[in-house]
Amino acid sequence: MGNTKFEECYLRSRDEILSVEKLQEIHGKHDGEYDDKYYGDFYCPECFAAQLSFHPNAQTPHFKTKPSAKHEEDCSYNFKSAKKKELEDYCYNSDNHDSINRKLKTCLELLNKSPKKQKSIQTRGEAANNSKYNYFTFGEGEARRSIRRKKLSMPLHEDHDYNIPMIFYGIVFAEWDLRNDNMKYIRLRNAKTDKYICAITVSKNIYFYIDDSMKFDNKRKCDIAFITSMVRKEKFNNCAISYSTELIISNISTQSIL
Ligand SMILES: [Zn+2]
Repeated sequence: MGNTKFEECYLRSRDEILSVEKLQEIHGKHDGEYDDKYYGDFYCPECFAAQLSFHPNAQTPHFKTKPSAKHEEDCSYNFKSAKKKELEDYCYNSDNHDSINRKLKTCLELLNKSPKKQKSIQTRGEAANNSKYNYFTFGEGEARRSIRRKKLSMPLHEDHDYNIPMIFYGIVFAEWDLRNDNMKYIRLRNAKTDKYICAITVSKNIYFYIDDSMKFDNKRKCDIAFITSMVRKEKFNNCAISYSTELIISNISTQSIL
């Protein structure tokens, strides 16, 4: 898995997760801070074990596993990324809906947690099942594959964030649009910049099955996780969920943002 690209890294000395954008900013200042405080301190954001290298001058800046570095046995980065067809089959099979919903819940639990807490959340399932288990993989043995996850606070990349099912998650501003009888929409905006992210289409039938606790009036800050293929149409990102289990909204702020 030497070619897997990471958009975040774990800083061991600070016990902190850092995005590639943030590090690029620090690196670009050329004031010595990068060399003094950051260089060489990059580790896998999931297992925290494998050392990563930083590639700030690549077309899409990223982190990469160092050739000699090893991920922990159960880290999802040890497994091949699932192909589009494998992901579509996995999501379509109703036997997997509970497992997908659990993966989304885990993503939400990872938000707002310090890396050490994240680690305990990620390994908890393994202990409970008494078998090797990772929330971000599916399949067994040779066929075990990892599912890509994308934080909604990061920009979407043309070459690898579209047209393939993956988990999108993050803290956002969300607003339901219920004006259309047959199709409902959730519009998401960046919780810091208010920049428009995407619209999620929810058919009337699926909307019916969505828990009432996830429905709210006016724009609100919340945590969200969903699995879908993002499509770019003109300048806008659109996606749809196919089952009510493919979406979770939680920590909905009680104050609306108008
Ligand atoms: Zn790892």
